[in-house]
Amino acid sequence: MKIGLVDVDGHRFPNLALMKISSWHKGNGDKVEWAGSLEHYDKVYMAKVFTFTNDDLQAYQTEKFIKGGTGYDLASKLPEDIERCYPDYELYGIKDTAYGYLTRGCPRQCPFCIVGQKEGTNSYKVVDLPQFWSEQRYIKLLDPNIIACPDWENLLGQLADSGAWVDFTQGIDIRLMTDEKAAAINKVKYSMLHFAWDNPADMGTLEKLKEYRSVWKGSQRNRSVYVLTNFDSTHEEDLYRVYALRELGYDPYIMIYDKIHAPKETRYLQRWVNNKRIFRTIKYFKDYDHTRG
Ligand code: SF4
Repeated sequence: MKIGLVDVDGHRFPNLALMKISSWHKGNGDKVEWAGSLEHYDKVYMAKVFTFTNDDLQAYQTEKFIKGGTGYDLASKLPEDIERCYPDYELYGIKDTAYGYLTRGCPRQCPFCIVGQKEGTNSYKVVDLPQFWSEQRYIKLLDPNIIACPDWENLLGQLADSGAWVDFTQGIDIRLMTDEKAAAINKVKYSMLHFAWDNPADMGTLEKLKEYRSVWKGSQRNRSVYVLTNFDSTHEEDLYRVYALRELGYDPYIMIYDKIHAPKETRYLQRWVNNKRIFRTIKYFKDYDHTRG
């Protein structure tokens, strides 16, 4: 069969589902390529992760269309035999980085997040590391809440034993931190730790960040905290979190909910905080001349 793939979100971040679909079809002797409108395919798979991405309206010639991903609907799932495939990293020309999930699900049910609805409100182990890692130097871990999983110790141990540089891309839930979990995380050769302080009223998160601030390896630059804005917070509350985090030795990183409709001030705040060259030079937002940004 001839298979066409479409990554509707663009190619900035590899689509894991498409890499698994590619792997499964190649394993079955099929020809797989990025779909083009002049070719004819037995099947075309279109994947879209983000709801805000416009759909691909290009006409493809195919016997069968399969659309999937959270950008289309929350219910679509890969068949189990495809889900378990080792990703075809070649599809995106990826040489030395592995991408994947060791766990799925999250108990938190944050109102702006679809993980609970899509994957369930328990964190549970889905695979062991070799399912998506084969001696690559870097690992981009996509788990929503790995330390909420009862198997956290085993899974963090697998990451530590890999010797690869691990980026916990989706954030580690600081509210669940214990000394044992922090020690297990520190055994991992991590390149970046991400935490989150989404709700400014949640002082428990601030307390936990404070409690563990001197535990982490490395410098402020590799311990980042996502600060959710434009979702039930005022500009003052956003600034408060940014300053408090910097004071504690964490690197704030602004996330904007529904960015298209966000106030200008919030977008300027994001530009100031997330551009680290500017953020380290200009200490206060009031001094940031956004007209030059
Ligand atoms: S903790 Fe993270 S993954 Fe879990 S529901 Fe909240 S935002 Fe989603």
